[in-house]
Amino acid sequence: MNNPDCIFCKIAKGQIPSTKVYEDANFVAFLDIMPANKGHILIIPKKHYITLDHMPPDLTRGLMDVELKMAKAMVNALRPDGYNCLQNNHIAAGQLVPHAHVHIIPRYNGDKVTIDWGHESYEGTEIEELAKKIIDKYNEENKK
Ligand code: 5GP
Ligand code: ZN
Repeated sequence: MNNPDCIFCKIAKGQIPSTKVYEDANFVAFLDIMPANKGHILIIPKKHYITLDHMPPDLTRGLMDVELKMAKAMVNALRPDGYNCLQNNHIAAGQLVPHAHVHIIPRYNGDKVTIDWGHESYEGTEIEELAKKIIDKYNEENKK
């Protein structure tokens, strides 16, 4: 489960250098080379999955555990005013490297980082209809 053309697979295997801050059997965390702010961390599964929903649920739970530990370590080490944990899936969502990863970005009051998704608005009962669509799909996919 490895893609020879994938830069994050190469980082996971140590074939190209990275500044690692954490590693276990399933995950590697390292510093982003083009950080939004200094100390910006990336966490990747060692196996190649393109997006979050491609990962097995056990592995996504493990990813969240690492995310929490790394966020706490970064906050305690760098003492930012805040932090973002985010994860882009597919090009439309801003994913440039097609190997699932989580960003942990330290934030400072008045910093220059922009994470601005603007604002859409709902018409009439659209919000309830959309919610129903999602609930119905969730129930269909999570039948006991
Ligand atoms: P995405 O837009 O896919 O969510 O984020 C990919 C991130 O990977 C970017 O923030 C980019 O700076 C980072 N990145 C891309 N190539 C490398 C690399 O070779 N080494 C490291 N450390 N980060 C990388
Ligand atoms: Zn990969």
